[in-house]
Amino acid sequence: APVIEFRGVGLTYPGPPPVPAFLPVDLVITGGEYVTITGPSGSGKSTFLNIAGLIDAPTEGRCLLDGMDTTGLPDSDRAGLRGRRIGFVFQSFHLLPHRSALDNVALAMVYSGVPRRERAARARDALVRVGLGHRVDAMPTRLSGGERQRVAIARALVGRPSLLLCDEPTGNLDTATADSVLALLDDLHKDGMTLVVITHDAAVAARGSRALAIRDGRLTEPRPARDARPAP
Ligand code: ADP
Ligand code: ADP
Repeated sequence: APVIEFRGVGLTYPGPPPVPAFLPVDLVITGGEYVTITGPSGSGKSTFLNIAGLIDAPTEGRCLLDGMDTTGLPDSDRAGLRGRRIGFVFQSFHLLPHRSALDNVALAMVYSGVPRRERAARARDALVRVGLGHRVDAMPTRLSGGERQRVAIARALVGRPSLLLCDEPTGNLDTATADSVLALLDDLHKDGMTLVVITHDAAVAARGSRALAIRDGRLTEPRPARDARPAP
């Protein structure tokens, strides 16, 4: 089933002067897809992610999440949906430095209505899921970059979202630590998670099941890679 559906969705920042940052496009991202989006700086990648993540409302078109039309919903409803259905992963991990890995993950559920004890149990499960079951009590400063990003991914997953939106998830990591993060994203994809990953890195883009490109606000699909039939 479609997780994200854009029907003529576009966004022009009002200015002045107006900036047509994301040009109107139809797009369906189906559950279980691993979509990568590459494009130069200023091409509209963040704008796309903010629309898909219900942070910014588009100025044109209709935007559906899990089949639900989110167009015109009040900010509070958008925030509620975002909290329940979408996990975000950023380039800079945004962990609280003086809280343990477990607390960083558990704190994501503070406003979810989940009781404290249950929050801790779920946070532990999420950390086990990302391969950090042995590091739950570690402070972020004692973790490697790759481990910190995996804590951030655990935090994004702990609310059981239907969609994970990642903005340059390996942008601050060297090749070796980036690899543990990419292997984890591969794993999540195998388990059925829907992933959208923004990246500058062609090697990262190649790991997805579907590669999109964006240039000057225009989102395109250069070639439907994995689904293409082999030449006879
Ligand atoms: P990317 O993430 O690919 O670097 P962005 O989505 O951040 O690109 O930006 C796309 C375009 O929109 C750029 O020309 C940028 O300058 C412009 N832009 C981004 N945010 C705003 C804003 N709040 N107001 C006006 N223009 C903006
Ligand atoms: P950069 O690419 O400069 O490192 P990030 O990818 O960390 O920036 O963040 C991208 C955008 O997302 C920023 O505008 C930031 O304010 C916002 N952001 C970062 N962390 C969070 C968060 N935990 N929740 C909501 N928005 C965030």
